[in-house]
Formats: sequence, C-alpha cells, structure tokens
Amino acid sequence: MTLIDLRSDTVTQPTPEMRAAMASAPVGDDVFGDDPTVNRLQELAAAKVGKEAGLFVPSGTMGNVIAILVHCGRGEEAILGARAHTVLYEGGGISYLGGVHSRQLNEQPDGSLALDEIEALIRPEDVHQPATRLISVENTHNRCGGTFQSPDYLRALGDFAHAHGLSVHMDGARLFNAAVAQKLEARELTGPVDSVTFCLSKGLCAPVGSVLCGSQAFINRARHIRKHLGGGMRQAGILAAAGIVALESMIERLAEDHTRARTLAEGLSEIPGLRLDGLPPTNMIFFDLDESIRLTVGQIESLMQEHGILVHATGARRFRLVTHYWIDDSAVEQTLQAFRVVLTQGG
Ligand SMILES: *Cc1c(COP(=O)(O)O)cnc(C)c1O
Repeated sequence: MTLIDLRSDTVTQPTPEMRAAMASAPVGDDVFGDDPTVNRLQELAAAKVGKEAGLFVPSGTMGNVIAILVHCGRGEEAILGARAHTVLYEGGGISYLGGVHSRQLNEQPDGSLALDEIEALIRPEDVHQPATRLISVENTHNRCGGTFQSPDYLRALGDFAHAHGLSVHMDGARLFNAAVAQKLEARELTGPVDSVTFCLSKGLCAPVGSVLCGSQAFINRARHIRKHLGGGMRQAGILAAAGIVALESMIERLAEDHTRARTLAEGLSEIPGLRLDGLPPTNMIFFDLDESIRLTVGQIESLMQEHGILVHATGARRFRLVTHYWIDDSAVEQTLQAFRVVLTQGG
C-alpha cells in the first residue's frame, strides 16, 4: 500500500519528468562556474523573483544563513519573528556560524511583523548595543499557518527598512505558494526585498535544493560564504535539472494543493472534537484536539498509520497537515474517512 503522507510537502518525490531531466542534464564543475544546468537554473530563478542573480544551495537553511551572514557582520543584529523558521528550526546557525545576534518580536496572527513594533527595536548608535542591520520576513509563514504577505505590506516593509538604513531578507521557502494564492507573479512579492531564498524541494517536488537571489554584488559575496560552509558543489546540474522542471512546470499547479487543503479542512471541521484554526490560506491545515478526544496525538498518529496515512503532531494536542503534488482527491477522501473512524471509534 502506498502511504498517504501529509506530514510535510518536503516528502514530495521528484516527478518522472524531473528524473528524465536529471538523467540527461549537461553538467560541469560548478565551483568553476562551468555547469550549464546550474547556470540556467540560477538565471531562471533570478528572473522569477526579479533579481540580478541567483545561487543554487543545498537547502533553504543554508540559503537563509548565507543571506543573513552577507547582510550582518559578527555582533550585528537581525530582527526576526519569534516563530520564524530561522529562529526555531535552523539550529541557531546565524549565531553559531556568523556571530549574528537575533532580536525577536511576536508576529501578527497573519505572520507579518508590525512596523511600529520593529521601529521600537531598531538600535540607536551606541557602543553598548549591537548595530541593527536586517529585517527577515517569512512568506509563507509556516508556524503562523501557511499565511502569505501582500504586495502592499511588503512594499511598506521595504520602504520602512530602507528609510532606516536596514536591509530586508525574505525566507520564501514557500514563496510560490504565497504568489499563487494571491494570483500574482513571485516578483510582485520580492521587488521590495533585498534578498530572497526559496525551496525547490517542497511543494515544487525537486529532490534537493533552494535558490538564494539578490543583486550581483550580494550573490558574489554569498558564493564566497557558500564555499566557507562547504556548500560548493561540483556536477550539481544533476540536481539543478530537477529544479528547472520545478520552476517551469510545478508553480501554477500549487493552486490545486491549496484547493485540496481547503476541502480537507472543511471535512475535518465537521468531525467532532477537532478545532480548526480556520480555512487554510495555502497548503497547511492546523487543528487542535478538544477535551472530548481521549486519544493522545501519538495514539492518533499510530492509528492513522494503520489506515496508511502519515500525519504529524506539532504540539501536545495539535496537528499540522500539508497537501502537495502526491495528495490527490482520493487521498483527501481517504484521510477524512480515516479520521472519522479513528476519532469516533477510537480505532
Ligand atoms: C523548510 C523551510 C526552510 C528551509 O528548510 P530546508 O529543509 O533547510 O530546505 C526555511 N524556511 C521555512 C519557512 C521552511 O518551511
């Protein structure tokens, strides 16, 4: 039985078209700048987000740490949301590797950072304090429910940051979900920011990799830091080939994942004992179990697995489900049916 895996969109496997493109990709030594497939991916990525240049990196985590190390020197400060992926799930890499100090503020419910609250955190010129250099914004925002930011907010954020002499980085791991959900091109969201990372390996289904984009001068420095981190790869065109397919043919279809997330959320909201956060803005559904449910999240995970469905708890009474390319309409139906059985009959 093939499992229905709703734990994350990181579980997506490369499509047959990607595997074919990988097998036939022309390659070269990318540390010498010689890999034509990597170069093509980087150009395509930069064009998608309206920046001068791109850099292929092994992971979104590496893309974010490189970006923050380019924007901030040792002992300098980046302002981030307290529930940002960079704060919660990247191993503290910005401080471990770059000596960058993080200053955190709580996100608004929609994942945005309020400009007046940021303003209060910007440090004055003072030897006692780290110098503020950067604001990092996550779009879509994972822990805030897969929420996206509007072009208006991002323009205001960019203008505000630049007026204060700060740069803006966007952790756009799921940037294309944010764009498709608003029926916009990604570059309409990234215009106001100085740098952006997005993942090829999530909803876009490529097996490995992210791209960091920014100005040519920014990417020249980023390439140096990627090398420091051991992220210079050789015949990486094998991987970049899947990334090109991702950018050329997997973006528009993300709308289907959003529609299915909505259908799944509507079905779940009718099951007694489940408290949905609301309808999903993109491809993530979050819900809590109320007191009427006696099962633990661990028991629910095991019982669902017996029905061939993998789900992932993100708290003592909380779940996150993520739709993606490998979740079709029938998988949505089977998941709802399994939840009904597990939660109403205890197995
Ligand atoms: C997945 C993710 C990343 C990067 O993750 P990798 O697994 O390192 O590619 C960064 N930010 C957000 C919001 C993410 O969801």
